[in-house]
Amino acid sequence: MLITIAGLHAQAPVAKKYGDMITPADLKEYLSIIASDAFEGRETGKRGQKIAAAFISTHFQELGLIPPVNGNFYQPVPLYTSIPGDIYVIVGNAKLNNFGDVVYYGTGNSGGELSCPVVFVGKGRKEDFDQVTVTGKAVVVEVESFSGFHEPLELAYQRGANTVLVFNPDVNQFHELVEQLKTYTSEGTLSLTKPSPSTQHSGVFFIAPMVAEKIFNSTLEKLKKAALEDTKKSALKKFKPGSLRYQINLETKAVNSENVLGYLEGTDKKDELVLVTAHYDHIGKGKNEGDQINNGADDDGSGTVSVLEIAKVFAQAKKDGVGPRRSMLFMTVTGEEKGLLGSDYYTQHPIFPLAKTVVDLNIDMVGRRDPQHKDSPPYVYVIGSDKLSTDLHNLSERINKESTNLIFDYTYNDQNHPDRLYYRSDHWNFAKNNIPIIFYFDGIHEDYHKPSDEVSKIEFDLLAKRAQCVFYTAWEIANRDQRILPDK
Ligand SMILES: [Zn+2]
Repeated sequence: MLITIAGLHAQAPVAKKYGDMITPADLKEYLSIIASDAFEGRETGKRGQKIAAAFISTHFQELGLIPPVNGNFYQPVPLYTSIPGDIYVIVGNAKLNNFGDVVYYGTGNSGGELSCPVVFVGKGRKEDFDQVTVTGKAVVVEVESFSGFHEPLELAYQRGANTVLVFNPDVNQFHELVEQLKTYTSEGTLSLTKPSPSTQHSGVFFIAPMVAEKIFNSTLEKLKKAALEDTKKSALKKFKPGSLRYQINLETKAVNSENVLGYLEGTDKKDELVLVTAHYDHIGKGKNEGDQINNGADDDGSGTVSVLEIAKVFAQAKKDGVGPRRSMLFMTVTGEEKGLLGSDYYTQHPIFPLAKTVVDLNIDMVGRRDPQHKDSPPYVYVIGSDKLSTDLHNLSERINKESTNLIFDYTYNDQNHPDRLYYRSDHWNFAKNNIPIIFYFDGIHEDYHKPSDEVSKIEFDLLAKRAQCVFYTAWEIANRDQRILPDK
């Protein structure tokens, strides 16, 4: 007869029974539906996303989960989509229209035509801004590459500028950008709040180099030279402020989307909630030749079907009389690809108190491997586990060693990593609210955000192992005596 020590690993054999019910076959069955062409890339607010929501909620219903939003599985997420309307800049008596010699990017709203002085801030570094007063003015910045506009833009708005115009001496880059933004902004930019009239924070105008010449009645050579001059010489001051008029008008429409939530009530600690999330939206259809549907099998079909499968085995455990002590909320969220909108909305309008939400285990891309792990044994990137709760991190490490024994790669677990993964999926909205989180991720691969992110490329054995790892972690968090708490 085997001697057992009371309490120690008492849950382990039970957990194992349910962990084993997470199978590659189930995951494949669900993913073949969710990531099929019929779902049209599940773009937020579009038909494919709605079909996916219907599929997920039906699955939750079949499992016997409770619909927690006033008797519904859907939490409506009201959004706005904005496309460029009448947008222009007037310099002297020349009216420059959007997508011509100027192109606008942002969700500002000038509330009609505005007029203001305009100053040159060179390369838009801090020391450049120190030379000129920009409050209530428009500023012109020179960049080497358009992707470098973020920092000057931020500085300009911090210092009270009204709007920002950015030019690049290479006119070809400007023309390319116009084409890109024409496609991108005509699709509509989604936001949680309606763009309301304001003189500030009005996005950015990219302008052709000759527009900068016209504004200051100068030459490109002189502007470039002044931008390079030692800042002590205050060369930027020598440009007499010009003036311009502009208008930013967006056509805004309401769009409806939804988070899908399934609730499983706990037993003696049912007031506390363990949250498992994945985003079920993706980026929809492209306009390229050939295959146009971005199936999003990995991103984030893989996380979505993991949530469906983990929900299934928890529901089964409850039917068998061994349901979790804490309550479980399985939530697939919308609008992630548009800026973490669904989870942002949830944390602003939580269905269960955030103070009682113990953890968010967020699964976003777990069905494949990246080039760095081409021949690696089963692995997963683990991000954020130690950021808010040492207790959570230790538990996550221990449970993995006792169960799935995946290699935990912490490469991206660094707030200063250039890829900024810690801020790039839905867990971030919970972390912001001091709720401990773990983000499970497989890495960046060549099919990221492409139509080739398809079911045929998924490694279902690996996906099942990762889903099991999340399951065992959730099981432990839901059943242990002590609640996981943030360090402070
Ligand atoms: Zn994505």
